[in-house]
Amino acid sequence: MKIEHIGIAVKNLSVSVPLFEKLLNKRSYKTEKVESEKVNTAFFNTGDSKIELLESTDPEGVIARFIRKKGEGLHHIAFEVSDLDHEIDRLKKEGFELLNETPKQGADNKLVCFLHPKNTNGVLIELCMEKK
Ligand code: ZN
Repeated sequence: MKIEHIGIAVKNLSVSVPLFEKLLNKRSYKTEKVESEKVNTAFFNTGDSKIELLESTDPEGVIARFIRKKGEGLHHIAFEVSDLDHEIDRLKKEGFELLNETPKQGADNKLVCFLHPKNTNGVLIELCMEKK
């Protein structure tokens, strides 16, 4: 498992994409709307891992609610796994609570699953697997 990407909640991609382009000195390689999560995302390659900026498309979406509560900033860390169903089973047996027990469609051609942050020191953890 490597860190596949780090998700950062932002209010406005039109502000934050140019900011991260300046910071990283490279262009965002992709923006993508994820209907199911009510977000627009923008991705940056940073070596082996990526940065995913997340902007809410709905005032009641998870990212909008997160920003209201905590402000913009680090939202989740995503680990890449080779067998998502297997990892879900393993982590359930270890006592972790999953926010979705069935893998769902994420951005960037991934199947994803989230762990409840109450079991992971307050950090939202995403598991992701490339869709074949
Ligand atoms: Zn993510």
